[in-house]
Parts: sequence; C-alpha cells; structure tokens
Amino acid sequence: MSIEAGDRPVALVTGSTSGIGEAVARRLAADGTRVVVHSRRSAETGRALAAELGGAYVQADLGVEEEARGLVARALDHFGRLDVLVNNAGISRPIPHADLAAATPADWRQLLEVNLIAPWVLCTAALPALRRSPGGGSIVNITSHAGVRPKGSSVPYAASKAALNHVTRLLAAALGPDVRVNAVAPGLVDTPMTKDWAQAHELWRDRAPMHRPARPADVADLVASVIGSAYLTGEVIVLDGGLNLT
Ligand code: NAD
Repeated sequence: MSIEAGDRPVALVTGSTSGIGEAVARRLAADGTRVVVHSRRSAETGRALAAELGGAYVQADLGVEEEARGLVARALDHFGRLDVLVNNAGISRPIPHADLAAATPADWRQLLEVNLIAPWVLCTAALPALRRSPGGGSIVNITSHAGVRPKGSSVPYAASKAALNHVTRLLAAALGPDVRVNAVAPGLVDTPMTKDWAQAHELWRDRAPMHRPARPADVADLVASVIGSAYLTGEVIVLDGGLNLT
C-alpha cells in the first residue's frame, strides 16, 4: 500500500544548507520524511536542496525572535503539519578559555541568542504542532561535547551548549509522552565551521579511537536513530569517536 504524501512526517531542520544540517536533511528525506530546509543567507542553495529533496525552503535569521517564530509558521504553511524539529543552526567563536577579557558580553549575548534562545523560541512555536503529530513529536538539539566536558572553542560557546543540554532534559520531563526531546552532542565534525581548526583535526586523528573527526553523515545517522527510537527521551548522546576515553 503506498503512503500518500500528506501522511509522511514533516521535519524542520535549521541551518540545513551546509555541514551537519544538510546531512540531516538529506538523510531524513531519504528515509521518507518531508523536510523544511532553512538557512539564514544562502537562499539559492536552500531552494535547490529543497527542490532536490522534494521539500520546502524558508529563510530566517534565528537571531531575530520574530523571524524564528515566522520560520515555524511558514513551515506549517507549506505542509500543514510538523512532526520533527532539529535545532541544528549554531555559531561558534574560537576564544582561548584563559583570556577572559576576549570573551566580551557582546560575544556572550550573540552566542546565547543563536545557540540557546533561538532553539527555545523554535520549540515554543513548534510545540502545538508537535503535540498533534500522530506518532508523537520529536525534538533533537544539536549541542556539543563541549557542553558536557570543559572543552570547546570558547567558554561562552561551551556554556551555550551545556545550557541547551539541560534544556533538553527539562523539556523531555515536561513534554512527555506527547513530545520526546533529545540532544546529539558531537565532538569534532568535518564541516565548514571547523575547516581551519588544524589542531583539533590532528587531535582527533592522533587520539580518538576512531582516528578521524566525524563526517556530517555520521551525525545524521545518529539523529535519524534518535528520531526513530520511540521510547528515547531526555538523553544527551555524545558522538566523539571515543575521544573522551583517552
Ligand atoms: P555550519 O557552519 O556548516 O552550520 C551552521 C549553520 O547554522 C549554518 O547553516 C548557518 O547558516 C546557521 N546559522 C548560524 N547562525 C544563524 C542564524 N543567526 N540564523 C539562522 N541560521 C544560522 O557548521 P556545522 O558544523 O554543520 O554546525 C551545525 C551545528 O553543529 C551547530 O549548532 C554547531 O555548534 C554544532 N556542532 C558542530 C561541531 C563541529 O565540529 N562541526 C561540533 C559540535 C557541535
């Protein structure tokens, strides 16, 4: 029996024209999900990817609250339902941890705005639709191993991801059983964000049991598993090729 398009679940993947987000969008589409591709800037790339995946594209700056809310509304305009929200968009800013003056309040505000408050706004806006999802709604936050251990590109970045890990657990407790909430916390992933991080690449090649950084598709595989695990909620799953063991 064929599944009508309207019966297929819909996922909104933020920041999905590059890196991890693009891999997640491609993987979910390959699994039969209708995907809303989103980016802040690269509209042409976003439209092309959405066309390729049979999905839709929406542009929005998630640093602007109204645009974040509008993103969910426009996703719903396209498909009339929303089953999965992947909060992937994020920013990083390399600042040595001991150089306290270099991590300015402006840096803190910007990192928290995009990495923590925007996912909160998106969860809030998406919640009524996620609750209506026939199979139960699912939120996956892409955080970082830096939000679990005292590591990462900067103190404000790591703190923003640690906060999102805790929001993940708090919301899982508050929203079950209608909506499951989990986080995938990667170590180094080979994406545009990390292309100049030579030392980190070397560390992963030398020290991680897997002897390489993750590929975006490795993260997408785990995100797909988390979405498909109907009993999994409140977990922060570190995906670092075993680096934490060394
Ligand atoms: P990326 O730079 O390819 O992707 C980040 C995406 O977020 C981009 O599409 C960007 O446009 C979007 N974005 C940033 N600010 C935005 C804003 N204000 N409004 C809308 N979109 C915005 O990098 P990536 O490595 O694929 O990162 C994806 C996520 O994974 C991020 O949350 C990042 O913190 C996290 N992460 C990455 C790594 C890594 O090693 N690459 C490790 C751990 C966690």
